Amino acid sequence: MSAPLYEIFALRYAHLAERNQGSNLIFPDDHEAPMPLDFFVWVIKGANEEAGGRVIMLDTGFDAESAARRNRSWIRSPIAALSSIGVKPEDVQDVVLSHLHWDHAGHWHELPNAKFHVQDAEMEYATGRCMCHGPMRLPFDVEQVCTAVRFVYAERVKFHNGTGEIAPGVHVHKVGGHSKGQQILTVPTARGNVVLASDAAHFWHNIRRRSPFVLLHSLQDMIEGWVLCEELADSPDHIIPGHDPEVTRRFPKLPTDENTVLLHMNPSA
Ligand SMILES: [Zn+2]
Ligand SMILES: [Zn+2]
Repeated sequence: MSAPLYEIFALRYAHLAERNQGSNLIFPDDHEAPMPLDFFVWVIKGANEEAGGRVIMLDTGFDAESAARRNRSWIRSPIAALSSIGVKPEDVQDVVLSHLHWDHAGHWHELPNAKFHVQDAEMEYATGRCMCHGPMRLPFDVEQVCTAVRFVYAERVKFHNGTGEIAPGVHVHKVGGHSKGQQILTVPTARGNVVLASDAAHFWHNIRRRSPFVLLHSLQDMIEGWVLCEELADSPDHIIPGHDPEVTRRFPKLPTDENTVLLHMNPSA
C-alpha cells in the first residue's frame, strides 16, 4: 500500500500593493523597499486512492465589503474561485482555520457541509480578555468571531490543542506566534511534504532572514514556529508563506486561471 498524496492549489483572491518593508517588518533592512501582499485561500485535494476524494480548505478569506473597508484590491470571491479547480462549496468537507484574523476567517455560511478546525488557544484569544485592547483586536472582525462562536454551538467546530490529523497524512500543528492559536498544515504531495504556513510566515523573507512581521502575539513562538516549519518541510521551497506575491510568480498556474497556483508542482528557481 502506498502513502496518501494530495494536490494543493493556492487561490489568489486579493492584493495590497501599497506596502513596504517599513510597514511589514519589525526590523526592516530597507524601510522603503516595496513589499506588497497577496491574499490566498488554499485547497487540498486527494490525488490517489489512499487520500480518498478528500477536499480540504485552509482559510476562507474575506468578502468584498471588508476589502473596501480595509482598502484591499479585490480580485474575486475566494468561494467563487473554487470553481476554477472544479470544486463546489458543498464539496468542502473540512476547513482548517490557520487563525481567526479577518483576512482568513470569512464566508463560513457559504460552506454548508464543512467542519471547521480551530486551535483551542485561537478561540480563547479571539473571545477573551486580549480583545479588550485595540492593538490586539485590530486584525479580528467581531462579526466573523461571532459566527465562529455560533458554529461552535451548532457543533460544526472541531477543536485541536497542538497536533491533529485532518485526513490521512494531513496534519495541523499549533505554532502560535503571529496569533495565539496560529496553526500550520502539513500535506504530503508527489514532490514531498509541503508546509502551508499561512501567517506563521507572511513572506519567505520572514522565515529565511529571521525577520518578524509587525503583527504578533509572541516573538518567541513565532521564531520557534519557523524552526518547526523547516523541520516538517522537505526543503525551503516546500514552505509556503501566507501572503508572498513570489508564490504566484514562482509556481506553475492553471492555464485557464492566472490566479490559481499549483503548489504540488516544483517552483522555478
Ligand atoms: Zn494574520
Ligand atoms: Zn493574513
